[in-house]
Amino acid sequence: MTGRAFKALPKAEHVIIDSWEDVFYRKNQNFRLQKGAQKLILAMNRSGFIRKGSKNCQNFGADSFYYCSPVRNCISGCEYCYLQGMLSSANLLAFVNTDDCFEELRGLLKAENIGKERKMLLPVTYDNDLYTLEKVFGLVGSWAEFLAAEKPEGLTVEVRTKCGTKAFAEAGLKASENMVFTWSVAPEENIKRFEPRTSPLRARIDAALHCADAGQRVRLAFDPLLAVGCDWQKGYDDLCALLAETGLSRKVEAVGVGCFRIPADYLRIMRKNAPESPLAFDRYEYKDGTNGYPDEKQALVTGYVKQKLEECGVPREKIYSYS
Ligand code: SF4
Repeated sequence: MTGRAFKALPKAEHVIIDSWEDVFYRKNQNFRLQKGAQKLILAMNRSGFIRKGSKNCQNFGADSFYYCSPVRNCISGCEYCYLQGMLSSANLLAFVNTDDCFEELRGLLKAENIGKERKMLLPVTYDNDLYTLEKVFGLVGSWAEFLAAEKPEGLTVEVRTKCGTKAFAEAGLKASENMVFTWSVAPEENIKRFEPRTSPLRARIDAALHCADAGQRVRLAFDPLLAVGCDWQKGYDDLCALLAETGLSRKVEAVGVGCFRIPADYLRIMRKNAPESPLAFDRYEYKDGTNGYPDEKQALVTGYVKQKLEECGVPREKIYSYS
């Protein structure tokens, strides 16, 4: 992986550091400033790759839910992204000892008794969008190779992405029955406003269709649902109409739905860093360490989108709602 990254970034200046922790967790860093000129840190992970999934995340009904973070931080800059509250650095941190990660997973699958009866979901892209960085790291390909060779029964590795047809074609389709590709989708208006540097909606849908038509497992994530402005329903109406029109709604194996929510500590930092963001300063309620829409609004938005999904051809049993 190190060689691939060097090749992909031939003009990069190399600086040898003693400890990635000292650089990445340095105090008084400015996330927003760093985001404009991100550096890449290549490091060895000695403390473990895989962690228990958060209660704030969608587990699609799996018995066992963990996540893995081979790369921390992302080249996109979504306004609602929790990374800006979770990490003090906006630099990209990539762990190069991928084989250690696979070894850790083998042990975990045994310890969790994963197999025919007990299923595990393992997202590997929560803190990044690996597909958009495939040229640099080749990690989706490494996971596909590992899974194709070992075929661990009961395990689903989720690759979540906002990539469009161009990035998808450049990266090439990586395949394994144990992998599922989840496209994050949102109304075009929200993409333009809150997800700069990501692909337009139609390009994501076309990439997802290409993937499904090639026989791969595809899911969609309507997450976070954002009810911004008085006409938020129209955005989701149009999005669902497009899913029906393109036929994607009938090709997905599941759709995850969940309103915007964020740990309270992260929201505090987000507000400090983005004092002009209407999204950060919307009205949220605090519950169990997390801020999100008030219950009533959450039920209204989630219920509306679930109904639209059903109307556009996604069977009810395939819709997984966070709340
Ligand atoms: S693509 Fe995902 S990880 Fe990247 S900034 Fe957006 S929300 Fe965060």
